[in-house]
Amino acid sequence: VKASNPLSFRLQAKMSKPVQARRLEGIDKNIWVEFVKLAATYSKVNLGQGFPDFPAPDFLTEAFTRILGGGDHMLHQYTRGFGHPPLVKVLAQFFEKLLGRDLDPMTNVVVTVGAYQALFCCFQALVDEGDEVIIIEPFFDCYEPMVKMAGGTPVFVPLRPNPPKDGKLMSSADWQLDPAELASKFSERTKAIVVNSPNNPLGKVFSRRELGLIAELCVKHDVLCISDEVYEWLVYDGKQHIRIASLQGMWDRTVIIGSAGKTFSATGWKVGWVVGPDRLLQHVRTVHQNSVYHCATIAQEAVAQGFQRELMLYGKPESYFVQLPKELQQKRDWLVRSLDGVGMKPIIPEGTYFLVADISQFKSDVPDVPNSDEPYDYRFAKWMVKNKGIAAIPLSAFYSEAHKNNYTNFLRFCFAKEEATLKAANDIFQKWKQEKTS
Ligand code: PMP
Repeated sequence: VKASNPLSFRLQAKMSKPVQARRLEGIDKNIWVEFVKLAATYSKVNLGQGFPDFPAPDFLTEAFTRILGGGDHMLHQYTRGFGHPPLVKVLAQFFEKLLGRDLDPMTNVVVTVGAYQALFCCFQALVDEGDEVIIIEPFFDCYEPMVKMAGGTPVFVPLRPNPPKDGKLMSSADWQLDPAELASKFSERTKAIVVNSPNNPLGKVFSRRELGLIAELCVKHDVLCISDEVYEWLVYDGKQHIRIASLQGMWDRTVIIGSAGKTFSATGWKVGWVVGPDRLLQHVRTVHQNSVYHCATIAQEAVAQGFQRELMLYGKPESYFVQLPKELQQKRDWLVRSLDGVGMKPIIPEGTYFLVADISQFKSDVPDVPNSDEPYDYRFAKWMVKNKGIAAIPLSAFYSEAHKNNYTNFLRFCFAKEEATLKAANDIFQKWKQEKTS
């Protein structure tokens, strides 16, 4: 429409009102939009966004194909909005085992469009205008805008690094909460705390003691817990994933969030869930039924079959939930050696498929720009993908605006990758190091 057209003038004149809702102010930037595009444009080796480049297990993809080609045409139609009955049933059975309590598939489980929508539903359902929500830094970045969109105020508490004195590599276990600092964040205004164990991006697996401390404070201050456990099966070195909902006083105040994408290495399927008490889930269902209402039936049916298999093989060596962490631990060790070998000091993760590494020794390659708005690690990650072809994510993306500038010497790498991908990364790092020293 040309500007001279009087209709267009009228349309433009109408646009003087702000078009966006106030709750979107300040949350328009998104790290993934920018870095996924950079990786697609420049990367030879993508260790950025968190997804495997190896196939999902055969039993899962075969289930999907069987369902697609099978005779039940009703699996192409809507199913129960709060979760396909076979999936909520098997999830309830599985979590009964994990939590040691009886669950009702109809009231204690809701199926969502990935863990992302599970988080969104929980924040919308449980957080009100003026409520404070405690978020432990570094954190999966969407928690902050989701709390804000619900009208809440995020209150941040950091994991503080304590480097080991013996010159050993740091572990994610060396990043800890200061108990007094954590306690100081709880007040009458606190509605909920978000706990993400194993934690993205550090790979920290919270200990029973740490979770016990959080649980005590939740009970004392009558605070809810949004427990993001999407990496529950990805735990290494014999560590145990503790479910905070199983600690005393926590079941009634906790929503557990999970993801078939992470669990079965099929992030594109976008099947997730919330498990918890009906008193909380009834409100999660209200948001779900008034937003997406429903997730793809076939994907839900295939995930249900995947869980039925895993229930049968629970704890056995053939179980995918036993095999996947074993394979990933090898990949972790491989990337740790590779990064350590070139002086990009890795922090050894106890869980997840992410690894954070210190880039301080490579800073001379990418000069800092004083007084820039852009944190140094952003600039470094952009330079690295454009000049070296390796995509990674700046760690400061997982910090609040106020604390970003304290953590600009680190990158997050994803190691859920084929051997060939990790090898290609190693080759690039080796060459880079040689160029630096020659
Ligand atoms: N929580 C965490 C901690 C995550 O890392 C992710 C994915 N990166 C999600 C939730 C979202 O999971 P999904 O892909 O199932 O939506």
